[in-house]
Amino acid sequence: MKKKITIFGSTGSIGESTLDIIESNPDKYEIVGLSANNNYEKLLKQVKRFKPKIVSLNNPVSFKKFKDLNTDKKLKIINGNDSYDEILEFSTDLVMAAITGSAGLIPVISALKKGVSIALANKESLVCSGSLITSIAKSNNANILPVDSEHNAIYQVLDVKNKSKISRLILTASGGPFLNRKINDLKNISPEEAIKHPNWSMGKKISIDSATMMNKGLELIEAYYLFGISEKNIEVVIHPESIIHSCVEYMDGSMLSQMGTPDMRTPISYTLAYPERIKTNVKRLNLHEVHKLTFYKPDYKKYPCLELAYYSLELKKSAPTVLNAANEIAVDSFLKEKIKFLSIPKIVEKTLNKSSISSINSIKDVIDIDSESRKLAIDIIKEGSY
Ligand code: MG
Repeated sequence: MKKKITIFGSTGSIGESTLDIIESNPDKYEIVGLSANNNYEKLLKQVKRFKPKIVSLNNPVSFKKFKDLNTDKKLKIINGNDSYDEILEFSTDLVMAAITGSAGLIPVISALKKGVSIALANKESLVCSGSLITSIAKSNNANILPVDSEHNAIYQVLDVKNKSKISRLILTASGGPFLNRKINDLKNISPEEAIKHPNWSMGKKISIDSATMMNKGLELIEAYYLFGISEKNIEVVIHPESIIHSCVEYMDGSMLSQMGTPDMRTPISYTLAYPERIKTNVKRLNLHEVHKLTFYKPDYKKYPCLELAYYSLELKKSAPTVLNAANEIAVDSFLKEKIKFLSIPKIVEKTLNKSSISSINSIKDVIDIDSESRKLAIDIIKEGSY
């Protein structure tokens, strides 16, 4: 029996890598559904390669263009807000949740509510509604398999039976493209410079988050919700080689880590094959070539976003939701060259300070807080009051 896979966000970087792995394992997997935001041309190519039963395009113009160009008569093509539930009417064993940003929240919840396990590449959904998502997963008996390389590493070495014996989680961070630059050098950084990541090839938003280290901040929050470990026991360590993908330390002093060349196809393959493993053609780690591994403590002065993420986790409730929404607005404004690189943390901090932190009890709460925080961040940018 082939495993039936649906990909939400199939035209992005994670979606494409997932499809490449599936293409190399045609006896093990079949594609049921694909969804994309607006890249109809790429989706058309994917439909020809993988013959899904259903596809969804979010953007109405792209949806129409896709319909006009599609030649697969059996294919069901949909768009609109309810499309995720409609896609999941087709039996699926695993959903790859690869939509970036808080737009990925609803599809994650749709899948978990149907009891479908997810490979979670969308960290923002856990960041902005962590306790809600983990409780929906639990009550519907659905598994959340982390795709994020650090959490995937922890998942691989976490001894569930001895979870209470864990003393620390260590999240490794590459330090991004500006690791060796002084803070003053970062004043006039362009989006092009910030996007160039030294080790990982990723989408635009996450590349900027990596340069500010907000990515690690979001991953800290993600780890807190995924593994139920207090932020006081989660440490971030800069490890520029990106070979050790994270560590779990136990009370007896043992530290377990997962290593490998930095290639997202490894964690993606792990989630697709779980609880088994499949072969990949990922470059093998040659320890003679690696020669040495280095580790540094992150400097909060240079990476204030990381400190803000710890702060939001201390506050809990809606604070991580606010942090995430404000960051999305700030990053988008930076990419559009409306604000400077160093203004990103200032806007996030101002938004956090101006927000009233409330508890989150429903999806509606998350959506409301997310949109209020976005408005607040947009106003702060417009006023220039950061
Ligand atoms: Mg990561």
